[in-house]
Amino acid sequence: MEIEPHMLVEGVAIGSYAIGGEDAFIYIRGEYTVAADRLEQAIAEAEQAGILGDNVFGKGVRSKIHVFRGAGAYICGEETALLESLEGKRPMPRSRPPFPAVEGLYRRPTCVNNAETLSNVPHIIRNGQEWYNTIGVPPRNTGPKIFCVSGRVNKPGNYELPLGSLTFRELIEEYAGGVIDGRPIKGVLPAGISAPIATGAQLDAKLDYDSVAAAGTMLGSASFIVLDDTVPIPWAAARMIEFFRKESCGKCTPCREGTQWLHKTLVRIQDGGGREEDLDLLLSVSGEVSGKVLCALGDFATSPVTATIRSFRDEYVKHIRSGKSFNGTWSPA
Ligand code: SF4
Repeated sequence: MEIEPHMLVEGVAIGSYAIGGEDAFIYIRGEYTVAADRLEQAIAEAEQAGILGDNVFGKGVRSKIHVFRGAGAYICGEETALLESLEGKRPMPRSRPPFPAVEGLYRRPTCVNNAETLSNVPHIIRNGQEWYNTIGVPPRNTGPKIFCVSGRVNKPGNYELPLGSLTFRELIEEYAGGVIDGRPIKGVLPAGISAPIATGAQLDAKLDYDSVAAAGTMLGSASFIVLDDTVPIPWAAARMIEFFRKESCGKCTPCREGTQWLHKTLVRIQDGGGREEDLDLLLSVSGEVSGKVLCALGDFATSPVTATIRSFRDEYVKHIRSGKSFNGTWSPA
């Protein structure tokens, strides 16, 4: 959006035309001012060139694109919460059915797609499906993917690569410059903090949706957070749950109360007041949240707890027995 805004604008215009839509909305977090400004400029240029507007290419077709700047709630990544926000309401996910394709924005049939997906459309139209299928791993993992790498690496950044073309370790070593100070990788969160942490042999899995799922986690947004051996897991888990506690929209009791409870317990462990039985309590509370909520945020919120206890139970126990406190802070060794 910042560097090639016309790619997305063209994809949205083609998508609108394909479904007979006249108005399309690009929903973007309000903090991303550079991207939003450049999209608005690209839309103005396309209107001036007659590619968008009330009479596209003089063919009597109306196609308008509007940029909507959101207020920065994570839940707006959920499509029905996004629609509520677009309508000017508090962004709480809707009960489904009806699904947006039947009753979406302003109760009109609405197609919600990801910006990354739509940006592929102009290239597929230009070069054909056969060409697209030569990128990645057919039949289900084709095309390029933007891998965003952050955390304890030397070169954090966005790397666009074919799906399935490399492993977790290769992405970190060959593109992200390796781990800071050459330290060992402790774990990788492949879809931000929503995905179960990948460790050990999982890091040799190829980076496509099916291979990552077979390794027991998920690729999702491919927003990788790399943890090295200096990062204490009880501290990291408390930070992750704190995020979900704040971002829970509060509509479902298990998510609203469960994330509070998980956070309080993890903070107590982090601060040196944990008991070994807290680990089973955390798993029990997670079980009462996951699968019993309206949207995926509630399910994802338990991953930092269940996956870190599964992979790092010994570290939790050692920390609890030590009585050591991070006092909410930690800095790299
Ligand atoms: S799961 Fe959480 S974020 Fe999703 S609707 Fe329920 S309370 Fe809101």
